[in-house]
Amino acid sequence: MANAHLSPEIATQLADLYARMEAAYDDVARQLDFSCQGCPDNCCDSYFRHHTYVEWAYLWEGVNELPEERQRQLVARAEEYVEASERALAREQRPQVMCPLNDDGLCTLYAHRLMICRMHGVPSSLTRPDGQSQKFPGCFRCQELVGERADVPTVDRTGFYRELVALEVAFLGHRRHLLPKVNKTLAEMLVEGPPGLPPLP
Ligand code: SF4
Repeated sequence: MANAHLSPEIATQLADLYARMEAAYDDVARQLDFSCQGCPDNCCDSYFRHHTYVEWAYLWEGVNELPEERQRQLVARAEEYVEASERALAREQRPQVMCPLNDDGLCTLYAHRLMICRMHGVPSSLTRPDGQSQKFPGCFRCQELVGERADVPTVDRTGFYRELVALEVAFLGHRRHLLPKVNKTLAEMLVEGPPGLPPLP
């Protein structure tokens, strides 16, 4: 296994996809007159798992741009996160631990943060490949704002997810069938280092 690097083309396409996700989010937030300003909470302590190698590799592209000392600090924090979340899970509680990349409320790797970091907040929906639809009501503050409103503007995640899957397929190629599915917290991705993948032929 070797640490896999993204090709510049895939990295550019992922950055473009992230930018369009943000634009869709901002559009709905504007329609709802919603913003994170003044929020007493910080959703970066929410427990999320992530599912693509391509995002994992892109996250590490950001980490690798940092000075080595800073990288070590973030990995050490990630190790603490993993231990704390494992303790919570052993108590059958949902972990609520601040993301190791969060510094005083701000994301250290904002440009490399993962998809769910860009989607959480406003209402959104997803039509899954099996046709089932899922609805996400947004954060607690947005839910309060929306209340009983019937015509709620929503980000449709479906096309974005499809594009992300297409990038995952382009990144992994035939290796996709050799690798376990990703189901990791961001902290686990930091502790484990960049994804190790078999070389492409
Ligand atoms: S990666 Fe950044 S935006 Fe996402 S949870 Fe961590 S600190 Fe927050």
